[in-house]
Amino acid sequence: MAKMYYNEDGNLELLKDKKVAVIGFGSQGHAHALNLKESGVDVVVGLYKGSKSWSKAEHQGLEVLEVAEAAKKSDVIMILVPDEHQKNVYTNHIKENLSEGDALAFAHGFNIHFSQIVPPEYVDVFMVAPKGPGHLVRRVYEEGKGVPALLAVYQDYTGKAKELGLAYAKGIGAARAGVLETTFKEETETDLFGEQSVLCGGVTELIKAGFDTLVEAGYQPEIAYFECLHEMKLIVDLLYEGGFEKMRYSVSDTAEYGDYMVGKRIVNSETRREMKKVLEEIQTGVFAKEWLSENMLNRPVFNSIKKKELEHPIVEVGKNLRSMMEWIKE
Ligand code: NDP
Ligand code: MG
Ligand code: MG
Repeated sequence: MAKMYYNEDGNLELLKDKKVAVIGFGSQGHAHALNLKESGVDVVVGLYKGSKSWSKAEHQGLEVLEVAEAAKKSDVIMILVPDEHQKNVYTNHIKENLSEGDALAFAHGFNIHFSQIVPPEYVDVFMVAPKGPGHLVRRVYEEGKGVPALLAVYQDYTGKAKELGLAYAKGIGAARAGVLETTFKEETETDLFGEQSVLCGGVTELIKAGFDTLVEAGYQPEIAYFECLHEMKLIVDLLYEGGFEKMRYSVSDTAEYGDYMVGKRIVNSETRREMKKVLEEIQTGVFAKEWLSENMLNRPVFNSIKKKELEHPIVEVGKNLRSMMEWIKE
């Protein structure tokens, strides 16, 4: 079983005489900075001149400095700019401002695990990765609760990297829910695999295949949309609340029987074989290399597929149907 930590395991005193720089003020950045500040931590937000986020952070009562200056003044530097920009931001603004015994922190392991950022040996490197989007990390904290997080140590120079990471996790409220120990490798590889095979790639292709099958058979696209996409949320909510058991308890016995009989014909041994291949491409760095060079070339493949996906009939049908459901915010 994985090791879990809670509030009583974290010591905020470890952060009391330190300054924490939160680099970036987006989804995760705003939540980390505000939660830490309200936990009594001395926080500065690091951004670039002209950033849209600058005035947002200042309006929330936070000190804002350019990245290099924020990094220089701080002892813990949490990098929360988009993963594709982290290497540049680190190389140009953070690297030369790291002093001995500082800590470099991340909310996702990609850049460390795939050696895009290679920190000097005289700093700690840890990860605190909330298992939820930033707005939830913020809202749940304000309600006195927390979103669980993963904790990992990549480099322990001071001998205190893990305690410091735990203190950080407590500061953003995550230890109120539970902090799960992992490694940069495990977090990075499972995160990529999950989004590709199950959460994003798996789900969208499954929905599209179902929608296309019904529409090609002559059923109305609106009905196909409701059945294959809209209802997904109802099912996922049940899975989220109570696992397979609650979902299968809630649906009809006919649906449950169909689930048992047909699911394995759709996600079959060929699909599982392909999943193993996908995982291998992640583990060997083939995917990382492909994505990094795609970015270097200004994303020709990404942009063309993105455009093509927007032309799928499910997009137009969905827009029209969602506009009838005024409780759904676009
Ligand atoms: P966002 O895209 O929301 O962050 C963008 C922020 O970074 C903005 O404030 C932006 O400023 C700023 N920024 C962009 N470029 C630079 C730069 N060159 N220098 C300084 N600031 C810059 O990122 P996320 O919060 O989604 O992701 C941050 C990290 O958290 C990533 O490692 C991600 O994998 C991880 N993570 C994200 C989760 C999520 O829910 N989104 C969940 C768990 C982990 P501007 O306003 O000017 O654009
Ligand atoms: Mg991810
Ligand atoms: Mg039904």
